[in-house]
Amino acid sequence: MKAAIIDDSRAMRMIIGRTLKELGFEVIEAANGREGLDCLKNDPEADLVLVDWNMPEMNGLEFVLALRGSQHLCHLPIVVVTSETEASQAERALEAGANEYVTKPFSKEDLVDRLRRLGFPQ
Ligand SMILES: [Mg+2]
Repeated sequence: MKAAIIDDSRAMRMIIGRTLKELGFEVIEAANGREGLDCLKNDPEADLVLVDWNMPEMNGLEFVLALRGSQHLCHLPIVVVTSETEASQAERALEAGANEYVTKPFSKEDLVDRLRRLGFPQ
């Protein structure tokens, strides 16, 4: 299993990455949506994407729309990570094609719960 963590915060990538690795994921990281798309295009083995909402260059919403519009990557499950003040955005993320969302600050159990709903770990 391989997961892409796309977040402009290095600390947040580390926090999410730690939990994913415990669950047995190999992790790839990107600092914004544009970089994330490039990573995934070069790494067709990814099984899951976790994407931050607020990022420079290409934000979470733009990323979700781009991924869902991509012929080769549109099937990938997406978990959007929003902050509390962006909670209303979660609805938009789901409408755009995200599968699940988790709101910061979240516990390890919150994250594991979202992944379970998507059938991970496989
Ligand atoms: Mg951010």
